[in-house]
Amino acid sequence: MIKALIGLLVAAIAAAFIRAVMAMITKEVKEMVNPEAPPKPQPTAGPTSLRKCPVCGTYSPADRQYCSEACAAKASSQAQ
Ligand SMILES: [Zn+2]
Repeated sequence: MIKALIGLLVAAIAAAFIRAVMAMITKEVKEMVNPEAPPKPQPTAGPTSLRKCPVCGTYSPADRQYCSEACAAKASSQAQ
């Protein structure tokens, strides 16, 4: 009975190990097949971090909804 449990445990560990090795090999093969694949762009860098001002259409950093105080005031006055 214990022998069977140990066998099961060894099989589970072996399966996990084989899966890890296969994942590593698959990754290396993908890099070999497609070595010129560009690295994934950082989501916080580049033009994706810009937001279009809904009032005048100017692009400004994404942490601001409007490009300027004037546009924010204009938007809030239009909303009323
Ligand atoms: Zn604006």
